Amino acid sequence: MKKKPRKGFCAICGLECELTFEHIPPRAAFNDKPSRMYSMENILEKTKDSKQIPKSFEGLHYSDRQKGYGDYLLCAKCNNMTGHLYAPAYINFNNSILKLIADNYDDYMKASGLQLNARIEPLNFAKQVLSMFCCSYPKIKEQYPIIQKLILDKNTSIQGDNCPFQLLMFLLTPDSIPGSTGPIALLMDDGRIDAKFEIDFPPLGFQIYESKTNNNAMDITPFLSFKYNETADINSLLPIYKKDTILPVKTLEALR
Ligand SMILES: [Zn+2]
Repeated sequence: MKKKPRKGFCAICGLECELTFEHIPPRAAFNDKPSRMYSMENILEKTKDSKQIPKSFEGLHYSDRQKGYGDYLLCAKCNNMTGHLYAPAYINFNNSILKLIADNYDDYMKASGLQLNARIEPLNFAKQVLSMFCCSYPKIKEQYPIIQKLILDKNTSIQGDNCPFQLLMFLLTPDSIPGSTGPIALLMDDGRIDAKFEIDFPPLGFQIYESKTNNNAMDITPFLSFKYNETADINSLLPIYKKDTILPVKTLEALR
């Protein structure tokens, strides 16, 4: 039987077309197992009844994803493009992180961060992360049109001060409850209102902030200033966070 085509708007280029299944993160980054996808509406519904933040997914409605986490989100062209141009850098880095965790497991369980010494293609990697943000929140490209430009043209880069957002990365503890959120309005300690997007794909998590924040996640905005395929050695402390709620929190520090 012929499969029914899934029509919709591509999460990256925005064209109305037949959509293809996109793994978020890439399938080779160990995202090839069936997964469950929970809807934020259901989570909020449960919160309303219980008057408390849910600490687990128990009892929540979900849809089964037999192909791993992802959805029919991209046109064939964008799916192939991100798969060829950016996914390999993400997969390599994710593998380095898994090895780092395996080699430093005691620290991973109790330290506040792991010392990262990894070779990476910063621009390629950051563009894969931005693709994952687009797949999670297609409207993010309306808020930040530069994101679409960065993904669609592999050679586009952006110097730190000109970037309209801050891109942050952190490690999640194995017992964290990953929850992707966004956009969320945050009341900051200094009284400012900021907007945040977050995607958690353990062991890594990423945030986009509207303006510079000093929560101590690793600022990877400068990754966007590299050239396509350029490599760099990253020697930096990658902070570890534990998330004990699936709902957004004001700052990750608050959970420590
Ligand atoms: Zn597309």
